[in-house]
Amino acid sequence: MIHIRQLHKSYHTEALSLHVLKGLNLDIEAGEYVSVTGASGSGKSTLLNILGILDSYDQGEYHLNGSLIKNLSEREAAVYRNEMIGFVFQSFNLINFKNALENVALPLYYKKVSRKKRNIIAMEHLDKMGLKDWAKHLPNELSGGQKQRVAIARAMISNPKVILADEPTGALDSTTTLEVMDVLTNLNREGITTIIVTHEQSVSDATNRIIHLKDGMIEYETRKNNGVHDMIQSVNF
Ligand code: ADP
Ligand code: MG
Repeated sequence: MIHIRQLHKSYHTEALSLHVLKGLNLDIEAGEYVSVTGASGSGKSTLLNILGILDSYDQGEYHLNGSLIKNLSEREAAVYRNEMIGFVFQSFNLINFKNALENVALPLYYKKVSRKKRNIIAMEHLDKMGLKDWAKHLPNELSGGQKQRVAIARAMISNPKVILADEPTGALDSTTTLEVMDVLTNLNREGITTIIVTHEQSVSDATNRIIHLKDGMIEYETRKNNGVHDMIQSVNF
């Protein structure tokens, strides 16, 4: 599903260049449940944004579902994103003056689906998240966990093949964290390739494979074996 070879990314400001990703190699197969962890500044969000085609890279290759994702125009990037990717953010990124249903339905508005049809589909997704009764509520009337479940419903409404979540539980308490992780785990069980950036161990432990980033390189990986994470390799091959 995701194949990355020798990926490099630098940020350039007037004063300096910062080499953030330094030749990453990474393969993630369809249906995998993966977390990416590492210290603040290690390049986790940079990697996730590249995977989600929200940002470009400088060198190397990124193939998503068989397509080379490189030097795309804004329009081409949007097509791949809409077909393939659901994004979930730490801060939910809900629109404050739209209710839960309207927030979930928004991606279908951009796809020119009729209001009636998009509201029916959005309600199905809210229902799946246990939020049917909250459809008419504005984000500020919802708890953090409810907001994140609305955001996940919005990410799922385009039937993405991959869910990318950047610190999805970073703003939540531990009970709500479990609630949101249950939702993500269930989506993965339905076959969605799920990749979560986190620095919470309870979150990474829930996934089947943990990629440890250090200074823009993969330091090591672990895989779950009988419920326990085992070191599998010390890479950058
Ligand atoms: P993480 O998510 O692991 O905390 P990031 O990928 O967000 O790390 O950032 C990696 C490094 O790149 C950090 O030093 C950060 O300050 C820097 N960085 C991130 N985004 C930008 C940007 N748009 N412009 C300049 N530097 C950035
Ligand atoms: Mg980050």
